[in-house]
Amino acid sequence: MAAAAGLAGAAAARATPGAPGANRDAEVIVVGAGLSGLAAAKALRAAGQRVLLLEARDRAGGRVFNATTRGGIAVDGGAEFLGPTQDRIAAFAAEYGVPTLPTYNRGESIFAINGALHRVPAAVPLPILPGTAETALAMARIDATALGFPVGEPWRHPEAAYLDSITWQDWIDANAGTYEGKLFLALAQSAPLSVRPHELSALFMMNYFAASGNESNPGTFARLLSVEGGAQERFFDGGAALVPLRMAESFSDSIVYGAPARAIEQHEAGASVITDRGTFRAAKVVVAMSPAISGRIEYRPGLPSERVELTRGYTMGRIAKFLAVYERPFWREDGLSGQVVGDGTPIDVTYESYGQGHHILMGFISADAMADLDARPDRDLVETGLESLVRYFGPRARSEAVDYGFKKWDNDPYSWGGPTATTRPGILTRFGPALRAPVGDIHWAGTETADYWQGYMDGAIRSGERAAREILAL
Ligand SMILES: Cc1cc2nc3c(=O)[nH]c(=O)nc-3n(C[C@H](O)[C@H](O)[C@H](O)COP(=O)(O)OP(=O)(O)OC[C@H]3O[C@@H](n4cnc5c(N)ncnc54)[C@H](O)[C@@H]3O)c2cc1C
Repeated sequence: MAAAAGLAGAAAARATPGAPGANRDAEVIVVGAGLSGLAAAKALRAAGQRVLLLEARDRAGGRVFNATTRGGIAVDGGAEFLGPTQDRIAAFAAEYGVPTLPTYNRGESIFAINGALHRVPAAVPLPILPGTAETALAMARIDATALGFPVGEPWRHPEAAYLDSITWQDWIDANAGTYEGKLFLALAQSAPLSVRPHELSALFMMNYFAASGNESNPGTFARLLSVEGGAQERFFDGGAALVPLRMAESFSDSIVYGAPARAIEQHEAGASVITDRGTFRAAKVVVAMSPAISGRIEYRPGLPSERVELTRGYTMGRIAKFLAVYERPFWREDGLSGQVVGDGTPIDVTYESYGQGHHILMGFISADAMADLDARPDRDLVETGLESLVRYFGPRARSEAVDYGFKKWDNDPYSWGGPTATTRPGILTRFGPALRAPVGDIHWAGTETADYWQGYMDGAIRSGERAAREILAL
């Protein structure tokens, strides 16, 4: 394989942005054309509002991104999977004609623990090891807490003060004594969030488990983490980004690309959004992005101190995807599902992935392992990524690789990390109510503001639709 090459953008929605630069007016301006902004714009337009979307990048989709490998294969560089109870993304996929297919979940998966590889049937959640029983007990405790949890408003939970005073690592230490038990509970958190357990409020994590459901199905540990019956059950044929790209195409006359909002100025009536492509005015503004990113915009007058502290308290995870492409799925021949989870580094989670019919092993490089690689040349990411795959799947992972790619998110302007933003202890209980509270004519969307499936594409859509409802109710 040749030298390192990152994933280049593919199939960005190239809309004709009307007449950007002029002082164009709309009834509502949506800042950010990720799924949350697109969903807000769609709902507002359906209600007859004149909407303008201002997007910093030259494409729609934000953290949902169809990228290309070095050899030109389109792959999911960002969001990829969906599962049961993710009703809104499933509805959008159907509406925009993007079929979904089941993630390969046969054969055995690998738990990589302390240098040993434990093979477990893919449908079985955990290997039988010293920590399995206590992990099962902890899972039951988590599911019991999720029942009746004030999803999306964790600060209202009766034990909120305690849970937001400790980290997820503290919670693990109180609920598991073995190395394996602690590891399983740490992975249940770091795999979906890409931060380490000592960096995260236990209250945030409990809300995240509780949010992995819908209005009639409470969130569960298993639904958050499983393939079959869980958030990784299916993927989008052709790439998840087809959904936002097709949405954006359907109202391309209302999107201005390359227009990062630098400031939002509120007036006696309405607001102006000052961008690199001019100033735009509307009665209402929806800021549709992570609170960690919305804090980079200047607000005039300044926002209430609770909102400022909230945005300072949210930080993006650190993450990259590494993908190796093969002519044949050799791991299947070896009886493997292509799934790995464990304490290996830099890749600690893998899935079989798909791109235009090719067989792909996709590995997440997360948290501190990614922070380390962020500071090093890209070829180190490729080399250490392949080393991880060889450790898990044997030498064929290197000798049979015909192509590869990667997508680093941490230094990507307008995302600055992923998959989502999280909080350390002490933020949600003090400043949480500012997460969705409108400030004058500014409303807030973004997956982090969702009730169910916060952090996911589904949550992004739910948040945009909720922001639209707020405006339409006025
Ligand atoms: C590697 C990775 C893997 C993931 N895997 C999954 C998965 O398998 N399943 C799943 O459901 N979710 C997954 N996610 C999470 C999912 O991508 C997000 O939850 C979702 O896309 C968030 O949508 P959003 O609209 O809230 O935010 P974003 O997608 O971040 O959209 C915000 C938009 O605002 C724009 N913007 C930012 N600043 C400005 C500004 N100043 N002015 C104008 N525009 C601005 C950005 O360019 C962006 O387009 C993953 C994410 C990553 C990074």
